[in-house]
Amino acid sequence: MFLELRQVAFSYPQKTSPAVIGINLSLKKSGITAIVGPNGSGKSTLTKLMLGILPASEGQIYLEGRNITEYSLAEVGRQIGYVFQNPDLQLFCASVAEEIAFGLVNQGCDVATLEERVNFYLDYFELAAYRKSFPLHLSQGEKQRLAIAAVLANEPEFLILDEPTNGLDAYRKRLLEEYLHKVAELGRGILLVSHDIAFVDRMAERIIVLANGQIQSDSNQRGEGYLC
Ligand code: ADP
Ligand code: ADP
Repeated sequence: MFLELRQVAFSYPQKTSPAVIGINLSLKKSGITAIVGPNGSGKSTLTKLMLGILPASEGQIYLEGRNITEYSLAEVGRQIGYVFQNPDLQLFCASVAEEIAFGLVNQGCDVATLEERVNFYLDYFELAAYRKSFPLHLSQGEKQRLAIAAVLANEPEFLILDEPTNGLDAYRKRLLEEYLHKVAELGRGILLVSHDIAFVDRMAERIIVLANGQIQSDSNQRGEGYLC
């Protein structure tokens, strides 16, 4: 199992009730899963726990069988890519191509691999025409594609996207769906954190519903003979 949460709880200081509690969850490395739930249900908290940004107050989280507390944030980040709700927060380079190259350059990637990888992602996400453009001048949908491409270029095994349909019209949502299916075809696992039920219904093979910090339902846990 890629990620495993066992009896995980987290409480913010000065809060009487925990933000999430009793979370048992296993995520495979492939496929599209979604976490849905109303505002305040614990989606962001759960995501931060999975990224190792917050330490569990109770329970254990395992990444590839090792306790997440044994990894540095950078090590978790190499395995789990995170796409912010607002792509503006993660785009900071002078050009689209540099944005995709950034993580690879940091990892000391050689020039030939770098060029090949950047070209691959520019083509794959249909951004080649913008390779020299300033990222923040792109449209919302293009910025989002670039944010996904830049995170993917680091080749994480798994991708978490926070509210990926925010600010996208119906047409751009359809495009995003196509791109995310492409990501899944690359063999990467995807976790969508969203309150866009229609989008999630179309995209995800597994839907986890959070309410008041607890898992209310998990479509994976429907036993044999589950009817509606
Ligand atoms: P969601 O992402 O589903 O909106 P959150 O994980 O942000 O849910 O919030 C879960 C609960 O934790 C809410 O009651 C929220 O007010 C609380 N919470 C979230 N972040 C903080 C924080 N930094 N400090 C205190 N309470 C927080
Ligand atoms: P989301 O769109 O993911 O639900 P929120 O609007 O719930 O995000 O939260 C935005 C940010 O504010 C998060 O980083 C969250 O941790 C923080 N936050 C949420 N609720 C509280 C709170 N009650 N006190 C302090 N920070 C909070």
